Amino acid sequence: MANKFFLQAKSIAELLWYEERKTCLLCGKQASTSLCQDCRQLYFRPEQRRCLSCGKLIEGEADRCQDCRDGNGPKFLSKVTALGHYEGAWKQCIHNIKYKGQPYLLIGLAEYLTSWAVKQLPPPDSIVPVPLHPNRLAQRGFNQAEVLASVLAGCLGIKLKDILCRVKDTTPQSALGRQERLVNLRCAFSLKPGIQIKEEVIWLVDDVVTTAATIGECAAVLKESGAQEVFAFCLGAGRESPNNPDTASIL
Ligand SMILES: [Zn+2]
Ligand SMILES: [Zn+2]
Repeated sequence: MANKFFLQAKSIAELLWYEERKTCLLCGKQASTSLCQDCRQLYFRPEQRRCLSCGKLIEGEADRCQDCRDGNGPKFLSKVTALGHYEGAWKQCIHNIKYKGQPYLLIGLAEYLTSWAVKQLPPPDSIVPVPLHPNRLAQRGFNQAEVLASVLAGCLGIKLKDILCRVKDTTPQSALGRQERLVNLRCAFSLKPGIQIKEEVIWLVDDVVTTAATIGECAAVLKESGAQEVFAFCLGAGRESPNNPDTASIL
């Protein structure tokens, strides 16, 4: 009787205070954490190198992808790291976070993404999200990059600084090719007035990096404003195909 009462009390307490996660966020299979081992391997490919300049997942011994070796990468970033490859269930998860109003999914990923960022990048003075234009923010209701930055900042006890603003309401980058993306973003960002970031090491945070045009423009503004170094972290990036490097650069 006492045992039955205890089990009932336990299940009520679980319902009231926490929900034990038993399924993988990406494939729905039973897992002890929010990401099963198979999905970590399939989408995050921790063993695979990332292009130091643009974050693309690359094969082989080079530390940069062919595009960046050809001089087409962003110029003001010391390093870019992507948690995983932007495809399949991981791409869908990022879409759910961004377009389907589910930013809370990032909480289930907090531990994994924070430990990846810490292993890949040097300690920052502040964490800065890539901003949305006020029009886009009004439509979506939240900035996914800011939620991601706040998860990192909260886990690490580092200051979140929402100091960039998007002054141009640009065409969505996903609709454009590489050259158009660069032109589209010219002078799209600025530093908010009265902000001091002199000599700071900054982590710039965005959800997805494709051509790195957006983070490149933001990094340029931060460096011109006195930042010592700018590193970028994102959830997903492209993967360079060994046969045709260019096909992987724009998703
Ligand atoms: Zn899974
Ligand atoms: Zn690259």
